[in-house]
Amino acid sequence: MKAAVYLGKDQMEVRDVPDPQADPDSILVKVKSCAVCGSDIRIFHHGNSRVRPPQILGHEAAGEVAAAGANVRRFKTGDRVAIGADVPCGECSFCEAGIGNNCQINYAMGYQFAGSFAEYVLLNRTVVNYGPVHLIPANLDFDEAALAEPLACVLNAVELTGIKLGDTVVIIGAGPIGCMIIPIAYMSGAAKVIVVQRSRPRMEAARRFNAGAYICSSEEDPVSRVLEETGGLGADVIFTANPSPESHAQALYMAKNRGRINLFGGLPAGSSVTLDTNIIHYKELCVTGAHGSLPRHHRQALDLISAGRPDIKPYISHRFPLEKIHEAFTAAEGHLGMRVVVKP
Ligand SMILES: [Zn+2]
Ligand SMILES: [Zn+2]
Repeated sequence: MKAAVYLGKDQMEVRDVPDPQADPDSILVKVKSCAVCGSDIRIFHHGNSRVRPPQILGHEAAGEVAAAGANVRRFKTGDRVAIGADVPCGECSFCEAGIGNNCQINYAMGYQFAGSFAEYVLLNRTVVNYGPVHLIPANLDFDEAALAEPLACVLNAVELTGIKLGDTVVIIGAGPIGCMIIPIAYMSGAAKVIVVQRSRPRMEAARRFNAGAYICSSEEDPVSRVLEETGGLGADVIFTANPSPESHAQALYMAKNRGRINLFGGLPAGSSVTLDTNIIHYKELCVTGAHGSLPRHHRQALDLISAGRPDIKPYISHRFPLEKIHEAFTAAEGHLGMRVVVKP
């Protein structure tokens, strides 16, 4: 089969590799769509301790079951399935506690397990039994179903902040993730959602997702503007959906007393941020992280997309065949695109 093989930092090549073979406990999926995630781009440029090249990246996927092992009960040949990223091992104490995205082994598709920038992807026994693999609702196409993975990560983060009825929510970063948080925040009860974005063109492009206010942080001070938008009190919930250390510090100043801050976006490895933690102390802030998602979030994401809440189509800006994977990565890194889908 053809696959985009990651060979080391800044090296990836579309080449012929042996077809993966399904054993009695695994399934083989013909990949129809696999979206490019910010983390794929980070691995491509900087590597990752969980990815040993040569490896096939790609974890926001959807396709059709081409072969199912004799012991597999959950899926059969011909089933349309969406595939997420994080695979709980099912056996460690975090998996036992139901927080498999914090699994001690931390398996993921496109990391330790070969991913979906390929014609076929093998879902092994652990993935089939415990992983984020779900049937695609009939009204969704493969591209829409692939976006259940990033939406699942948004659902995990939103859950951790506990948005309440009437809350004001700030999202720093208007990339695909930041823009997916907008409708989910409203559905969770937010009265007002404010988007902060450095680049003016990206901010303008995010207006279609109907936040209540947009702040261009390269042209105006985002902290004083958020205070202005919130009667001087600050926001109840703040998400940092970008890779800038500065936004972590800004979030503290934008928060209302007892506010919740979710540091969604990872920073480049090795970055460190200086925070005035007295602000957390005196304002009784709650600061959380967010790492991937659980299989149940992936299922919830499919159900929500199927219900049109949100309509996921506007979150797809480009499509490329597998041969053009480099162009796909470049488009995803650019400052105007939303999700870029690779079609093997
Ligand atoms: Zn992803
Ligand atoms: Zn585990």
